[in-house]
Amino acid sequence: MNMPDMTVFAETESNVRGYCRSWPTVFDTASGSWLRDESGREYLDFFAGAGALNYGHNNPVLKQSLLDYIGGDGITHALDMSTVAKRDLLETLRDTVLRPRGLDYKVQFPGPTGANAVEAALKLARKVTGRTEILNFTNAFHGMTLGALSVTGNAAKRAGAGVPLQHATSMPYDGYLSDIEADSFTWMERVLDDASSGLDQPAAVIVETVQGEGGVNIASAQWLRQLAELCSAREILLIVDDVQMGCGRTGPFFSFEVAGITPDIVTLSKSIGGYGLPMALVLFKPELDVWAPGEHNGTFRGNNPAFVTARVALEHYWSDDALETATLAKGERIERALTGMVATFDGLSTRGRGLVHGVVFDDASLASKVCETAFDRGLLVETSGPEDEVVKLLPALTITEAELDHGLELLAGSMDAVCSGRGR
Ligand code: PMP
Repeated sequence: MNMPDMTVFAETESNVRGYCRSWPTVFDTASGSWLRDESGREYLDFFAGAGALNYGHNNPVLKQSLLDYIGGDGITHALDMSTVAKRDLLETLRDTVLRPRGLDYKVQFPGPTGANAVEAALKLARKVTGRTEILNFTNAFHGMTLGALSVTGNAAKRAGAGVPLQHATSMPYDGYLSDIEADSFTWMERVLDDASSGLDQPAAVIVETVQGEGGVNIASAQWLRQLAELCSAREILLIVDDVQMGCGRTGPFFSFEVAGITPDIVTLSKSIGGYGLPMALVLFKPELDVWAPGEHNGTFRGNNPAFVTARVALEHYWSDDALETATLAKGERIERALTGMVATFDGLSTRGRGLVHGVVFDDASLASKVCETAFDRGLLVETSGPEDEVVKLLPALTITEAELDHGLELLAGSMDAVCSGRGR
């Protein structure tokens, strides 16, 4: 096999590059759940653009709408001007997603990344309440800009800020204190209700219902309900960051639906554009819409081709509950397979919801080895968690059962190869 020519990447691209180190080949084309490199080798995708490709690569329905739009000279760039593509998207979002769920949200188009949606959400919460402090959670991940980093847990990522990260306090996420049998909320409630605790009254709490980057940590529905009640009783705004877990990743369109809660503010990005095109949204209760015109702006808020594929994705996949049902069924299929796999070896466990699952390794080094071996066998899967100790499975929601089974077999083979000798 010819080695791929990686010279220009090593010589010219910054050291900051990351995924290309885990997957040392040069990718060329992709469709559905498959990527092909320039030598024609195929890889099954259990990564899905870190959650940006819930509907797969070059989804044919979305692709056709994009080709038609571009072919017809539809607007490509429009800042936040009114366009037909944006009107169609807003109407579809309202009628297909928001109204059927009884959600009365205003829609903000921030810059097209998850971090930008988070920045806008934090700014809005501070502006509405006139308070500065934000509560976030252990192992949270919200993005790489300063505000988003201030509510992110990972020390190495935080260190990159180069300035003190302020006005945020980390609270224990669901399960964080389970080894000492303490309830996550004991501490949080106590410091909030004690005028002498040293914690200023926060503007907002920001939470992921499932922490994707933090190691597939899952908040129970009951915990989320308690959190929502705690916030509403103290007039603290609740922000759910659904950048990675929204758009059906856990089954329902919004990941918080499982808890029956209505966050004050919701951030969406990654798969909301449908086709992997950059786009983000901030949704919030109408009474929170205190923005002055242009107060949070950005040149790329009007990525109209993404509005087209976003709309078609909503029409095609969210007009009924077929995708949600299929996602939950595929999730159970993964859970069954992983439960079998981890039972074979010592020091492994598994957790997940919908189509996000993790295999947790007591010996963190094994997780990266499993991912490396999986790549050699033709499967893209990445690690997450504070020590990169979790192999995170994030296939496209549109993956077929046969593809899913194939990927699970590749993963099982990789685990066998790496963990042999650690059998129970
Ligand atoms: N929030 C969450 C929950 C995320 O998972 C991510 C990305 N992994 C972000 C925010 C940041 O998104 P982006 O990389 O598009 O800035």
